[in-house]
Amino acid sequence: MKTKFLFVTGGVLSSLGKGLAAASIGALLKSRGLKVTIQKLDPYINVDPGTMNPFQHGEVFVTDDGAETDLDLGHYERYVGVPMAQYNNYTSGSIYHTVITKERRGDYLGGTVQVIPHVTDEIKKAIRGVARHDEDVAIIEIGGTVGDIEGLPFLEAIRQLRSDLGKENVCYIHLTLVPYMRAAGELKTKPTQHSVKELRSIGIQPDLILCRSEVELSDELKGKIALFCNVEQDAVFSAVDLDNIYELPLAFYNEGLDQKIAIMLRLPAKNPSLAPWQHLVQTQSNPQGRVKIGIVGKYVDLKEAYKSLHEALIHGGVSNMVSVELVYVSAEELSTENASAMLQGLDGILVPGGFGYRGVEGKIVASGYARTHGIPFFGICLGMQCAVVEFARNVLGLPEANSSEFVPDTPDPIIYLMTEWYDFRTQSMQTRDETSEKGGTMRLGSYPCQLKEGTKAREAYGESRVEERHRHRYEFNTDYSRICQEAGMVLSGTSPDETLVEIVEITDHPWFVGCQFHPEFKSRPMQPHPLFREFIRAAKDNS
Ligand code: GLN
Repeated sequence: MKTKFLFVTGGVLSSLGKGLAAASIGALLKSRGLKVTIQKLDPYINVDPGTMNPFQHGEVFVTDDGAETDLDLGHYERYVGVPMAQYNNYTSGSIYHTVITKERRGDYLGGTVQVIPHVTDEIKKAIRGVARHDEDVAIIEIGGTVGDIEGLPFLEAIRQLRSDLGKENVCYIHLTLVPYMRAAGELKTKPTQHSVKELRSIGIQPDLILCRSEVELSDELKGKIALFCNVEQDAVFSAVDLDNIYELPLAFYNEGLDQKIAIMLRLPAKNPSLAPWQHLVQTQSNPQGRVKIGIVGKYVDLKEAYKSLHEALIHGGVSNMVSVELVYVSAEELSTENASAMLQGLDGILVPGGFGYRGVEGKIVASGYARTHGIPFFGICLGMQCAVVEFARNVLGLPEANSSEFVPDTPDPIIYLMTEWYDFRTQSMQTRDETSEKGGTMRLGSYPCQLKEGTKAREAYGESRVEERHRHRYEFNTDYSRICQEAGMVLSGTSPDETLVEIVEITDHPWFVGCQFHPEFKSRPMQPHPLFREFIRAAKDNS
């Protein structure tokens, strides 16, 4: 079967949950036995979100191949269960970068390089290229909102693709908002009509309209939207606000959305097997307890910056049949004096990844508090580095120990910058070039980690070698390995050649684990990450 392309656009306003909608459709099609991939096209000029402020843009999601991508790719992995790669995310910046590089190289043979056809051709190539493993369906989400100037080349490209690929192989889904006017007590369809009109003015007639709203749309209202937007009545669907995002595939199924897509694209109409999703939602709505996890971070007021982390904790809760209450603790306000007041009542403490010195001393206080009070602790990336620095200062008796990221001339750089290491992925030596642009100097993507027998990490994973994703520059300084181990810190995970420390644990503690990688990127609702599962289990035992 030729790959079928499903394009998802959004109208009226942003934050309607286009990424979750695309991911949920992917989950439904996958549960029908189809091979699915998803791609996100982002209209901004940044070449990738690697250098974007997580306050503004949310989390940077890292793939196995080391691409720094949009957080929607995290939803795709969690819902569809296929690992994403660089080719699953393009931005206007990356497309233009390719076009301009070609132009400089003389590839266009002196021709005038234009948005149409050169930029649009490059976009079409990127879209076709995502279905490189004979996928049955490729879902392409266009970021932004229809009507934005910067999104136009993407919309033009997907318009052209209908004739390039054949009508029967393409379906356009438009997600809009149907606001509820409390004063009038009714749902309003006008913004949807305008948004579809805008889309049609650039030559795209949506096949399906997905209406985000507070309440379900009546048949009458669906009929009205169908009439004004020139679609069949059974092509208008409600996408009602939900408390639990994992209910969305089931809600779409109940609306008949996947059925309609299957008919439109003539997909083999196997019935979806949704038992795992039903089981997931059921477990979530009948928790047998609750654990309170403190997240000590910098972006405490912006949960989007910790999207995958948030989800991984929920997954850990599911596998332990408990709900997880997240308490965001501002690292900048935390000090030895107020630690017991600020951290009191927490069943577990988590220090997530981060960049920059702001809040680091507070994170160090948090890890020390967890260590000395026997509270389950999970340090991720910077969180692990803080735990190591705390251990050096207060257990090894090195009061000035630090990461050389924060104090470059510290006498005890227990966390430091490696300039050379062996990369087991490419099987070659890697050197860190500090003169290259930010982003290019990081250890990014999946690396192998071997686990030491008899440790909590080894027990959690149940295997001796794993692969985890990284995004950092600094590393544990192995000059301190021996004294750390003598004082009760086990290096439970290392690179196969033992030059890079990937996981540390404290032996004399219920559960104290720090890892240099980001396990949250690989956690999925149906397969919670082992470290999150065990962290929540320890927190539950402590509650
Ligand atoms: N800033 C630290 C480093 O670069 C940690 C990065 C992170 O937590 N992702 O090594």
